[in-house]
Amino acid sequence: MEELAKACASTALILMIQELGSLPIKLFGSDELKQRYLPRLASGEWSPAFALSEVEAGSDPGGMRTRAVRDGDDWILNGEKNWITNLGIADLFVVFAVTDPEQGHSHGISAFAVEADWPGVSVGKLEHKMGIRGSPTGQPVFTDVRVPGANLIGEAGEGFKVAMATLDRSRLGVAAQGLGLAQGATDFAAAYAKERRQFGKPIIGFQGIQFKLADMETQCAAARELLYKACAKVDRLEPDMGKYSAMAKLFCSDTAMNVTTEAVQVLGGYGYVKEYPVERMMRDAKITQIYEGTNEIQRLVIARTL
Ligand SMILES: Cc1cc2nc3c(=O)[nH]c(=O)nc-3n(C[C@H](O)[C@H](O)[C@H](O)COP(=O)(O)OP(=O)(O)OC[C@H]3O[C@@H](n4cnc5c(N)ncnc54)[C@H](O)[C@@H]3O)c2cc1C
Repeated sequence: MEELAKACASTALILMIQELGSLPIKLFGSDELKQRYLPRLASGEWSPAFALSEVEAGSDPGGMRTRAVRDGDDWILNGEKNWITNLGIADLFVVFAVTDPEQGHSHGISAFAVEADWPGVSVGKLEHKMGIRGSPTGQPVFTDVRVPGANLIGEAGEGFKVAMATLDRSRLGVAAQGLGLAQGATDFAAAYAKERRQFGKPIIGFQGIQFKLADMETQCAAARELLYKACAKVDRLEPDMGKYSAMAKLFCSDTAMNVTTEAVQVLGGYGYVKEYPVERMMRDAKITQIYEGTNEIQRLVIARTL
């Protein structure tokens, strides 16, 4: 994801969502669900979507209104999600819905695997975005969708746990996307500074530009160390992996924003126009501070461990 994002953050996002939408089934799904969906997701034949957020429930997904009610062995799903990546191209939605309003978010939400071509699943509004414009985002609508009981992911009431365990791991993808953007912008700016001449010499000869590039490269290196450490902790399922994945997401995405903004500055007016990629990188970087939990929410997660 880091390597892809050096060139194109939207392309990296294809891979990120493949993971985000597969992890709930991989971590909590029955063997039957795994056999039915994971091979198609792993091969890329199918694309998933992860449908947690709603208009009134972003940072606080526990406030969701989408409901699923038991009907015999099945569930009937009704509601609307918001900001869902891959809308319009997803073959499979992982949908989170309230199944027991009495239980609150910790035990009252469940996760379901819902195929996009089932009756009652439709594509609502698609967004026009500042960045990651190669990736569709929008509002899927679920109207009286009949979901077989076998498509419940994990146990009924376990949905919040499914979402949080998934995000603890998938956030590393956002961090990698941020780091890739930052490194791609640094590399581009350094190469440009060697070519661009003002006052009779390449601008990389000016100490003001050298210091910017030195800081950009240093921030990328520091972000990479933290991210790879967090990845190792998740691989080993260490107890503080959630804290490290939040710290990596926070630091890599803030690095992406800082560094891409500086890259635009290094290119001057050429940084601000579409002829060069750094303005796109700066627009793309912004989302890494927002999705899969804003950086304010990451700070809450980290602070809770202190
Ligand atoms: C392009 C895009 C793609 C997305 N893809 C998906 C997807 O595939 N699936 C999915 O489920 N969601 C997706 N999201 C949703 C994303 O995760 C949410 O936008 C994000 O969690 C923030 O929710 P919100 O937009 O409702 O902001 P809000 O929660 O309304 O937050 C507004 C501001 O208040 C701050 N804030 C909120 N609560 C606190 C607090 N307790 N302390 C301090 N500050 C706080 C936030 O940090 C933010 O700055 C996507 C969003 C975008 C824009």
